[in-house]
Amino acid sequence: MRVKVIGAGLAGSEATYQLVKQGIKVDLYEMRGVKNTEAHETTNFSELVCSNSLRSNDITNAVGLLKEELRELDSLIMKSADKNQIEAGTALAVDRNQFSLDITNYLKNHPLVTFHNEEVVTLDDSYTIIATGPLTSEEFSLYLKKYLNQDDLYFFDAVAPIVLESSIDKSKAYLKNRYDKGEASYYNCPLTEEEYDVFYQTLIEAEKVKPKDFERKVFEACVPIEDLAARGKETLLFGPLKPVGLEDPKTGQMPYAVVQLRPDDASKSLYNLVGFQTSLKFGEQKKIINLIPGLEKAEIMRYGVMHRNTYINSPKVLNSFYQLKSNPKVFFAGQITGVEGYVESTASGLLVGLNLGRLLNGKEMIKFSRKTALGALASYIAIPNSNFQPMNINFGIIDDLERRAKKAEKRELIAERSLSEIRKIKEKIND
Ligand SMILES: Cc1cc2nc3c(=O)[nH]c(=O)nc-3n(C[C@H](O)[C@H](O)[C@H](O)COP(=O)(O)OP(=O)(O)OC[C@H]3O[C@@H](n4cnc5c(N)ncnc54)[C@H](O)[C@@H]3O)c2cc1C
Repeated sequence: MRVKVIGAGLAGSEATYQLVKQGIKVDLYEMRGVKNTEAHETTNFSELVCSNSLRSNDITNAVGLLKEELRELDSLIMKSADKNQIEAGTALAVDRNQFSLDITNYLKNHPLVTFHNEEVVTLDDSYTIIATGPLTSEEFSLYLKKYLNQDDLYFFDAVAPIVLESSIDKSKAYLKNRYDKGEASYYNCPLTEEEYDVFYQTLIEAEKVKPKDFERKVFEACVPIEDLAARGKETLLFGPLKPVGLEDPKTGQMPYAVVQLRPDDASKSLYNLVGFQTSLKFGEQKKIINLIPGLEKAEIMRYGVMHRNTYINSPKVLNSFYQLKSNPKVFFAGQITGVEGYVESTASGLLVGLNLGRLLNGKEMIKFSRKTALGALASYIAIPNSNFQPMNINFGIIDDLERRAKKAEKRELIAERSLSEIRKIKEKIND
């Protein structure tokens, strides 16, 4: 049995490792060397395109927990990251060159891996993992767009920040739909004129992330909130902060301005700030969000970003094994599925490689529950979501504890619960 893995990035490399460990032969395709992306600089596998940090190592932080789960399940990417770690406090930062080189050398020299330095532009009848990432080549993107139906591929992110529902102050924010149409599902944060003035001033003075040259063109269609604000003080009051039809039930009055929050997941544990797509620096976003009445203590689960990012409408086309519903021989892994970040991309690669290997060896695929970070991500990309957008791992998508606990204790308990499930899965895998 052979598997075609397309893309030797973080997800593709991890998936390949998980397959060869199970005795499956892999044809690994990578185009860099014959065709480059706009962001990669080398031909090494698993190149880190930007930061050299894999974020927190602390298991009471969701990405720290995800990394620990990956270590438990013998991830190639985590082995190389831990081996090539450099000093960076509680974050796991790596020597990016050696990190990628170790992965490249291991996979290129593996007897079950055949490396093909070429761009893939179509699919055939092979068992296939598509892990071509956020910068999937243009020709293959267009092919996938047709293969999955026109609407199911996006080319850039314009994401508004997302906050944890439990951190919204309900003594100030109220549930209401504009003109009370339908069942109330939006939280509304009312601003007085004075509060709006401070918010507006802070917004127009805030520092932006500079888009890369290749990204400038794609943003023309989608205006970030800071650019709307720059058009004049009134613009937001007729746009995303429009108060009409949103009278505050406590006063019966229409506020001067209203920031609306829309549920972002089926369980309504996460809310996104409507119309707040932004390319402001993360620190500036936090400052501005915390100025909004009701969001003074909001926990930000995902910051707004605007960047080139190819991803499919996973909830429509994939199941929670990252497997194509319309063709069970095809799996997707990495950022192209709508998971976001180095570690998250690795996580999906591990899950796909592990399960496809099991499938080909006549074993049942393993379903990770939402009590684990791995399972929460897999479930996020598969649960129906009419507003599907890429997501980092965060505690908002991991199942809550069955009992109440203070935040720090709660996260420790969630981490313990998850790692105990992962260890059981590990025993099953090793059986
Ligand atoms: C500019 C930029 C900066 C980012 N910065 C960060 C960051 O700092 N921190 C973070 O956590 N995440 C970051 N990300 C997000 C994301 O986590 C990384 O892009 C990550 O590398 C995704 O892993 P992946 O395996 O899905 O894709 P990649 O690592 O990009 O791997 C995909 C591979 O597929 C190859 N490929 C593409 N098309 C084809 C084809 N048709 N045929 C053959 N090969 C092909 C590519 O050359 C590439 O090697 C960034 C993304 C971008 C675009």
